[in-house]
Amino acid sequence: MSYARVLCVGLVGVTGHLVEVEADLAPGLPGVVISGLPDTALHEARDRVRAAVVNSGQRWPNRRITLNLLPATLPKFGSAFDLAIAVALLGGSGELPLLPLEGVVVLGELGLDGTVRPVRGVLPMVAAAAQAGVERVIVPAGNAAEAAVVPGLRVRGVDSLHRLVGFVRDGEPLIEPPTDAPPPAAPGPDLAEVAGQGLGRRALEVAAAGGHHLALIGPPGAGKTMLAERLPSILPALDDDAALEVTALHSIAGLLPAGGRLIRRPPFQAPHHTATVPSIVGGGSGLARPGAISLAHRGVLLLDEAPEFSKPALEALRQPLEHGRVVLTRSRGGAEYPARAQLVLAANPCPCANPAGDDRCECPPLTRRRYLGRLSGPLLDRIDLQVRLPPMRAAELMETAAHESSAVVAGRVVAARQAAAGRWTALGRRLNAEIPGPDLRRSPWRLSARDTADLRARLDSGSLSARGFDRVIRLAWTIADLDGRARPDKGDVGEAITLRTGEGT
Ligand SMILES: [Zn+2]
Repeated sequence: MSYARVLCVGLVGVTGHLVEVEADLAPGLPGVVISGLPDTALHEARDRVRAAVVNSGQRWPNRRITLNLLPATLPKFGSAFDLAIAVALLGGSGELPLLPLEGVVVLGELGLDGTVRPVRGVLPMVAAAAQAGVERVIVPAGNAAEAAVVPGLRVRGVDSLHRLVGFVRDGEPLIEPPTDAPPPAAPGPDLAEVAGQGLGRRALEVAAAGGHHLALIGPPGAGKTMLAERLPSILPALDDDAALEVTALHSIAGLLPAGGRLIRRPPFQAPHHTATVPSIVGGGSGLARPGAISLAHRGVLLLDEAPEFSKPALEALRQPLEHGRVVLTRSRGGAEYPARAQLVLAANPCPCANPAGDDRCECPPLTRRRYLGRLSGPLLDRIDLQVRLPPMRAAELMETAAHESSAVVAGRVVAARQAAAGRWTALGRRLNAEIPGPDLRRSPWRLSARDTADLRARLDSGSLSARGFDRVIRLAWTIADLDGRARPDKGDVGEAITLRTGEGT
């Protein structure tokens, strides 16, 4: 026999596609040709596979070898094809009877010595295989726990090409995925640890309930970061689909903790202000790495010291925030990753960052305006909630009364989200932050002239933009949902104005 084929999976974005690796060996000048749109890593695969085969004690066929990866039109990245290529080649040369691998997906990168190395993205690859009707997969031993998360699949691990050859030829055992339950995830930061900061806590709760982006502006020590870190703790846990999606993104980034479990808690990402554009939106050669905005998908992205981020980094967030996904353009075949994160911006009011707040600021007014001005336009424009936090007072810090825990606040958030989801079903939306302005201004949702009198006065005087008007209305709905009212009243609109404009602290 001089032909063999082995199943594998290629990733485009988070979507896996079955790939057939074909090997054909013909008489002629010895050499290897790989076809089927391979990237650089695949050309390197030729050298890795040859060394691994030889160093595993197998004979390298001295014939003309043609490797073909189908479908040819599918762009292929990364090194997960190595192992399938090696066994297809040994099958084609007649060294290995491939019957035991019929219908089995084989994934893994090969080291020159024939060891099988873990690869990124095993979870979405294996999930795609299961969806295509595959029942058995062989993955790197280091990825076996992760693959076993996908239900209905028989998963086996392999640590070397030698072991896989032993399995195929003589039925020797492969490595079973770990069966003991992974250790429970450590509890995250909790609101019970935050003293005082009534306004900040309220803003956080409203942001969580309505899905609103949030800007926290205040002097150092006002508790901005502490509050932002606790937003995930009051968001609902991820449902099955969201958990699979989030875990898949972390798998592609190579950031899954050992043990193999779905990520159920909304993720939290806080890139440093010196972060590069690719580290924020994603990129890199081979299998593109998701950036912070995609790793925060279905969770929270905090930009701490937001005005210190580079202009290109802030600009790069505009498209993902608008569309809920990142499109990475690359020389050959783009990648698209989901990026529906809730944004939190934290900023000092000015560059002098005086802990006593505005009273002690020594910055000229122009400097102050310019500092926060860096955030205006693309970013600040999309943020419903912009809160000015006062400096933390000593009395607040010394406060010993018990503070409400995240679990209590999360309960109100869930109830408010249910009220909103029920109301917006007809519009096909769930969160107040997602409702387009025109729908808010249309019957039956339009609020009465009496309840919005103050808001309209601000619009007429030019102190509030039309877009700002809609944002206040959205916040008012969330406040009503939290407080159990069917519609926002004048008081809800008033509180929304405070939260939107930062006035009245
Ligand atoms: Zn200042």
